Amino acid sequence: MSDNETKKRILIVEDEPDIVRGLTDALEFENLDVTSTSQGGDAVRIMKSGGADCVILDLMLPDMNGYQVCEEIRAFDALVPIIMLTARGQESDKIRGLDAGADDYVTKPFSVGELIARINAIFRRLRRSEPDELVRIGSADVNLKKHTVYSSHTNKEELLSFYEVELLRLLYERKAEPVSRDEILTKIWGIDAHPSNRTVDNFIVKLRKKLEDDQKEPKHILTVYGLGYKLVP
Ligand code: CA
Repeated sequence: MSDNETKKRILIVEDEPDIVRGLTDALEFENLDVTSTSQGGDAVRIMKSGGADCVILDLMLPDMNGYQVCEEIRAFDALVPIIMLTARGQESDKIRGLDAGADDYVTKPFSVGELIARINAIFRRLRRSEPDELVRIGSADVNLKKHTVYSSHTNKEELLSFYEVELLRLLYERKAEPVSRDEILTKIWGIDAHPSNRTVDNFIVKLRKKLEDDQKEPKHILTVYGLGYKLVP
């Protein structure tokens, strides 16, 4: 990152001082501007005043749980990337976190290197500035820049989250060709392997909900068995 570029700001929401200290040091070393709080209520207030470009959110906080914090932030900011910290082996926590609007999660105890790789992947993609990118998928008009999807089937406009847009963009760039889960993880999440191989699948479910006329019989975001997915606009 060049010096004249504004530093990206990260908010850490976590009440374990050792984790906060370790993460703050590592992220500041990456030239990121780090703010932290142990309180969910504070986190919501900070984000209301536009206080960070990315949030690392622990699930267990003294005043609120991470799902509530996530939902409250999502009520006024649909786009800021939120990475949730979850306990080991709690697959249901992860799914619930993604449902609450988190973009990604890492499992405690986590490797700081892996978390940084994911944050860097987010910021690499956020830095790309592009004109409005309008694509039509079935009965849905998507603006990849504004993160909106308007469906003429339901006559509804919805917002797409950060990873939903990135996943859709990748599939669209490669339309009519199958793209493997491994390639999606490497290109979008910035990692070779994910603790859960259902990450990509979870985001596909969310995209289908917003783009397909009938999500149970998808006609545009197709599963390629044993490999990955393919977009047919
Ligand atoms: Ca905690």
